Amino acid sequence: MIAWRQGKRVNRILFFITALFIASCSPVKNQAPYPVAENPAAVTGEIASGYFSRPHRRPKIVIDAGHGGKDQGAKSPHVKDMIEKDLTLSTAKLLDRYLTQLGYETIMIRTGDVFIPLDARAEFANANTPDLFVSVHYNSAPNKSAHGIEVYYYKEENERSESGKALAKVVLDNVLSSTHAKSRGIKHGNFAVIRETRMPAILIEAGFLTNREESKLIEDPYYRNRLARGLAQGIREYLKNH
Ligand SMILES: [Zn+2]
Repeated sequence: MIAWRQGKRVNRILFFITALFIASCSPVKNQAPYPVAENPAAVTGEIASGYFSRPHRRPKIVIDAGHGGKDQGAKSPHVKDMIEKDLTLSTAKLLDRYLTQLGYETIMIRTGDVFIPLDARAEFANANTPDLFVSVHYNSAPNKSAHGIEVYYYKEENERSESGKALAKVVLDNVLSSTHAKSRGIKHGNFAVIRETRMPAILIEAGFLTNREESKLIEDPYYRNRLARGLAQGIREYLKNH
C-alpha cells in the first residue's frame, strides 16, 4: 500500500517534470510585428509576414556601411552633395532596422561619419563571430551609362566561399524584386572586407551614382528603403535554407 502510494506520488512528480519539459521546449514565437513610425516601408508591412521564431540562438549579422570620415567613396556628378559614405550609412541603418524587426541580432561597423580602416572592419567582424557579414556600397564608373546592382563574394575553395555565393545570389534576387533595378549579376570580388572575414560575406554595389537616372532613384529615401528591405528579405531567405 505504501509502495503503491509512493508510486503514485512518483508518477505525479514525473508528470509535472514532463509537462515542464514540454513547455520549455515549445518554440517561442516572436511578438507581433511592431511598426516603426519613421520607416516608410513599415506602412506596407510587406516584410512583417515571416517573423522569425527562435527556439535557439538568434543569428547574428554584421552590417558594414562602406567608407566614412575622410574616405568619402563615390560622388554623384548629377546630384549636389550626394556622397557614397552618407548613402551607405543611411541604407545600412534601414537594413539594421529590418533585420532587428525580423528577430536577428545585428552589429553595425559604424553608426556615424567615422573613418575605419578595412582590415579593422574585418577584424571587428571576426571578433564578434557573426553568422553573416554584409557590406553596403554604391558604385561609380567613367561610363555614365553603367547602371544596375551587383553583389560580390570572395572566391576560394572552401565552404565559406560557397555560402557567400549562395548568399550573394539570394540577396541579389530579392533586391532586384524590391527595386526593379537592372541585374549586373553576382561576381567574385577581392575586397578586404569579404576576403579577410571568416564567415559567409557579401558586398553589394547597390547602384551607380554616376548614372543620372539611377542617382536620382538612390537619392530617394523610399528607394533606399526598398533596397534595404530586399537585402533583409534575401538574408532571411538564406538563413531559412542554410
Ligand atoms: Zn564603395
